[in-house]
Amino acid sequence: MFSHTRLSLFQQCPLRYRFRHIDRIKIESARGVEAFLGSRVHEALEKLYKDLMYERMLSLEDLLSYYESIWDKEWGSDVIIVNQEYDQDNYRRMGRRFLCDYYNRHHPFDESRTLGLEIRIDLEMDGVQIVGYIDRLSKIDEHHLQIHDYKTGNRLLTQQEADADRQLALYALMVKEMYPAVEEVDLVWHYLAFDETIVSKRKPSQLQSLKDETLELIRRIESCHDFPPSRSALCSWCEYQSICPEFKHSCDLKNESTDYSPEEGQEMVDRYASLKLELKEIQRPYEKELESLEESIVHFSQQHGLNTVYGSRHKVKVTKKESFQLPRKNSKEQEKLIAYLHEAEVWNMMTSLDNASLQEMLTKDDDFRAQLESSLPGLITKEARFNTRLSERKDVPEEEEV
Ligand code: SF4
Repeated sequence: MFSHTRLSLFQQCPLRYRFRHIDRIKIESARGVEAFLGSRVHEALEKLYKDLMYERMLSLEDLLSYYESIWDKEWGSDVIIVNQEYDQDNYRRMGRRFLCDYYNRHHPFDESRTLGLEIRIDLEMDGVQIVGYIDRLSKIDEHHLQIHDYKTGNRLLTQQEADADRQLALYALMVKEMYPAVEEVDLVWHYLAFDETIVSKRKPSQLQSLKDETLELIRRIESCHDFPPSRSALCSWCEYQSICPEFKHSCDLKNESTDYSPEEGQEMVDRYASLKLELKEIQRPYEKELESLEESIVHFSQQHGLNTVYGSRHKVKVTKKESFQLPRKNSKEQEKLIAYLHEAEVWNMMTSLDNASLQEMLTKDDDFRAQLESSLPGLITKEARFNTRLSERKDVPEEEEV
């Protein structure tokens, strides 16, 4: 059975996926404070809406006191705080603020009618079972539902990311199967740390593409054999570091009982690093002199109209290469250039801005270059680079060995 979390785990790191879902290795892991905070805030909001379904509206004070009570009940020494700058109290107060802001913004909670909380939904897609859990499902009217998701993280989704998000869109697919009369499903993220709500919708064609992409990913997982590790910032939260080849040695160095000597590897790496550093230090002055000589040879060749500069036994060939300097990635200038290329209907001929085809067009097509320069003056500049190549002279006899 698959879920969004499971699919994301594979995308994050195939090896972690294998450890957890195929080998089913259970490792007692500490709970991160961020996840702990998220769970308590979710539970408090679940309590708020559950009470509302039973015609009881909690006051803000009652909600906060419920939150405090579950925080104290669940807190334990296994909760780890990776960011040592902050302590338990900072995180607890963050949760209070999230709830206060949410309460004040949505009170009296009559924007929609709650249909269910922490609902499990199942979907079968081409013989594959997918399961999901919705924080809150609510109804605007019988044709219009909303899927709510509470986020307590410190990164706000952009509208573009929300429109491309898989998790809630997958739930929308499931909800539409469950309620065939429903025409519209809003995907609603409550970013509690920012007191922001982001809403996105999907067209039927987008849901169909999502279905196809999800099935393709599932097929990829099912046919995967090697499950390679994939290092990322998320490794800090991975419970399998002690058995992952990327981190095992580092863990073994702290471990007293291992079936090999991890110190042996440590000593070799220390020696290797110190030799490399020494070599770099020795080479540094030579590299500087080489660089400056290269510049002088190029200058000499240009000053005297030479393509090749001869030494007594060697020669240096100097070649000049002109190319167009394109705007920096993600800059305003790059946006302008892309817009221009779209307008000029040449964008479909290339896959990215720095590809060879644009360089080639600028070099060979004078009209195109002239039009671009007059439409976007100064955006594209031409720059010359010099390359040098050292080789032996063949026209002088080899030196006799002494
Ligand atoms: S430590 Fe990182 S690379 Fe290793 S299994 Fe975990 S997530 Fe993957």
